[in-house]
Amino acid sequence: MYANADLHCHSVVSDGTLTPEVLAARAHANGVDLWALTDHDEVGGQARALAAAQALGMAYITGVEISVTFAGTTVHIVGLGFDPTDPQMVQGLAATRGGRLERARDMAGQLAAVGIAGAYEGALRYVGNPELVSRTHFARFLVEAGVCRDTSEVFRKYLVEGKPGYVPHRWAALGDAVRWITEAGGVAVIAHPARYRFTPNEEFALFSEFQQHGGRGVEVVTGSHSASEAVRYADLARELGLAASRGSDFHSPDESHTDLGILPPLPADLTPAWDLVAAHIHPGR
Ligand code: AMP
Ligand code: MN
Ligand code: MN
Ligand code: MN
Repeated sequence: MYANADLHCHSVVSDGTLTPEVLAARAHANGVDLWALTDHDEVGGQARALAAAQALGMAYITGVEISVTFAGTTVHIVGLGFDPTDPQMVQGLAATRGGRLERARDMAGQLAAVGIAGAYEGALRYVGNPELVSRTHFARFLVEAGVCRDTSEVFRKYLVEGKPGYVPHRWAALGDAVRWITEAGGVAVIAHPARYRFTPNEEFALFSEFQQHGGRGVEVVTGSHSASEAVRYADLARELGLAASRGSDFHSPDESHTDLGILPPLPADLTPAWDLVAAHIHPGR
């Protein structure tokens, strides 16, 4: 039914560089026929995204990308088609965002210790939402300061485990994130599974606990997966009976190599994740 669904991207409400309105226009221009804005740990952009999509006649479904700590690793869970005003969801996301400013101070302290001054103030200049200072904002500052050539160099040399500026953080519990999404009427989806460096046993534990908590989907086609990774997770979706999702994970025209809507199709035999919340799709025209 939807040939070009793009259900993963970020606006200035989290760590993207475009507004919800500009993202909607870009998605529409690229042929997206079902869109979701999935800001990190935040639904503050949902009303704007929906209004912009409706003005363009593009179908919309609510979205979020929740940061979770599982087996000591950060995992991202995308929620689709939930009620963005659900109090448990709103409170859970607020709690998940809490602690980001303190973490940012600690990150800046580590960077100062290796001779990079002013990173806290520098990162904050890129922040659109004061509750959502992220590593991406630090990466933009480090490029501006001439420390690295681009943000991908930053994520090789800084801000990751074992490198200056990495501050471990405890995000939401897997079961809580899945519950907030499903109890608000949505479907929970494991984002970009190939990005996590789990052992096979840890990955198995992630998927089985996710399903036990009520999670029903996995991102198969994403800007973060190679073609062979998409094949691998399509197979896993079939094996586990999971629905499949598709999204660019677009953040910025200057940083993202996968643009909105410019992705291979989902394998036709898989159930699209949005079919599980079809009643919550705001139709286009
Ligand atoms: P945070 O939630 O503050 O830990 O920031 C995580 C964000 O950093 C992700 O959502 C990405 O936007 C960005 N990020 C993480 N790793 C990389 C990477 N290797 N290259 C580019 N961006 C990255
Ligand atoms: Mn991000
Ligand atoms: Mn992610
Ligand atoms: Mn994302």
